[in-house]
Amino acid sequence: MSTQAREDAVLAAVDTRLFIGGAWRDASGGGRLGVEDPSTGDTLVEVADGQPEDALAALGAAHAAFGTWREHPPRERGDILRRAFDLVTQRSDDLALLMTLEMGKPLAESAAEVAYAASFLRWYSEEAVRINGRYQVSESGRGRVLTMRQPVGPCVFITPWNFPLAMGTRKVGPALAAGCTVVVKPAKQTPLSMLMLARILEQAGLPGGVLNVITAKSSGTVMEPLIKDPRTRKLSFTGSTEVGRALMAQASDQVLRVSMELGGNAPFLVFDDADLDAAVDGAVIAKMRNVGEACTSANRFHVAESVAGDFARRLAARMGEMTIGRGTEEGVEVGPLIDDDQRGKVAELVSDAVGKGAVVLTGGERVDGAGYFYRPTVLGDVPDGARLLDEEIFGPVAPVKGFASEDEAIAAANDTAFGLVAYVYTSNLRRAFRVCERLETGMIGLNQGMVSDAGAPFGGVKQSGFGREGGPEGIEEYLETKYVAMNL
Ligand code: NAP
Repeated sequence: MSTQAREDAVLAAVDTRLFIGGAWRDASGGGRLGVEDPSTGDTLVEVADGQPEDALAALGAAHAAFGTWREHPPRERGDILRRAFDLVTQRSDDLALLMTLEMGKPLAESAAEVAYAASFLRWYSEEAVRINGRYQVSESGRGRVLTMRQPVGPCVFITPWNFPLAMGTRKVGPALAAGCTVVVKPAKQTPLSMLMLARILEQAGLPGGVLNVITAKSSGTVMEPLIKDPRTRKLSFTGSTEVGRALMAQASDQVLRVSMELGGNAPFLVFDDADLDAAVDGAVIAKMRNVGEACTSANRFHVAESVAGDFARRLAARMGEMTIGRGTEEGVEVGPLIDDDQRGKVAELVSDAVGKGAVVLTGGERVDGAGYFYRPTVLGDVPDGARLLDEEIFGPVAPVKGFASEDEAIAAANDTAFGLVAYVYTSNLRRAFRVCERLETGMIGLNQGMVSDAGAPFGGVKQSGFGREGGPEGIEEYLETKYVAMNL
């Protein structure tokens, strides 16, 4: 099959309508919205433009299904998730291609995301049967304390475009395992992976109404009525801090349980005792995964002065030789940014830094032609006051700045409103513990450039949000504790 025919076949396999109450249907009014290929700017396909009444119908379906889904035997809930894991794994090539088409990342990275996304389905297929309460003799010895763990109720999920599948399964997996029902709204730029996942869950035997998917052009108008509806019991959001803050205000109406996975500004610390080869390898992963469009992306590199120049030169050599192109092409390592606005923001941050004295060691410019490509960029001697030290870059740009002492490095790392992840490279065990304990982040990569793991609690502190996804902690977000005081 030709490449074009394969792309057409993968796109044709997606049902582009809304998924509500176990049925696929058009949006009220029949509106559609285009999904673009960011490496060409061409429209790939159109999906339904859901309206507020569609979203409310989806919530109605989730609410109606909750009563039976919560009673479903945990083993059967787990079996459905396990079947979905198997189906996602079997279809990983198609899912990866679909993701590359709508999001732009190279096929190898899409395949890695599909595997990561699937791992949440498997992890929570196993957790569904491990939801425990507690039995305890009361302090007086006369009574008993009994606790039950029960599903929170119908949930509303809003997910971003940068990890179109994994940000969905990281919420859907634990929610379904716990016995919750859900309405998911993927980002309008990348709705196809989630629509495909819904189809797979349907094929895995998920009863109608347990999972509902709404795609929409106007996310605010469509989602606000759901967040303010008393049938919703939980909101989980992954996206920017700015939107998260607005959604928290809306969620206060019904005093919803809320999880927020928000923006980051990850520091990457390299001490003079670090293995510099390993640090450069880790830096390339932490910076270039997803073309830098990841909340966990290393946003600024604080490097001991004695090795900063060497580190920056080596990083520039590695990033400068990466192959840029359409993610579907063989050997491509760097895809496009998601759109021209995002590329414009990256270019603006680079020119601000250069205007203030930073030196371009590689890159520093757009790639001419179709699509939203920007060259992998390393900036040396980045001065205080450069905006990209404070703002999430969300692009392939690595600013390097020297530090004179451990205290200075930690102060610089913590000097941000965000607190999602930090990376630390050192070969000194005492320093490793000292630094990890003092960093104000929810996660740390110690001598490694990636932290994502279905069995680990992913999440941030400060303005990077609250709540954890993954691991045993992830299912807690979907469970309430009920206490029964027993008089025997
Ligand atoms: P975004 O603009 O905040 O959008 C995220 C989601 O929210 C999308 O589905 C978007 O829909 C929707 N949305 C936007 N405005 C809304 C509103 N008023 N009401 C309801 N929904 C609304 O973020 P993004 O640009 O897609 O994603 C990048 C951000 O996500 C970065 O800051 C990144 O750090 C963060 N992120 C965090 C994590 C984490 O785990 N901490 C993981 C990945 C990404 P539409 O796009 O369809 O309008």
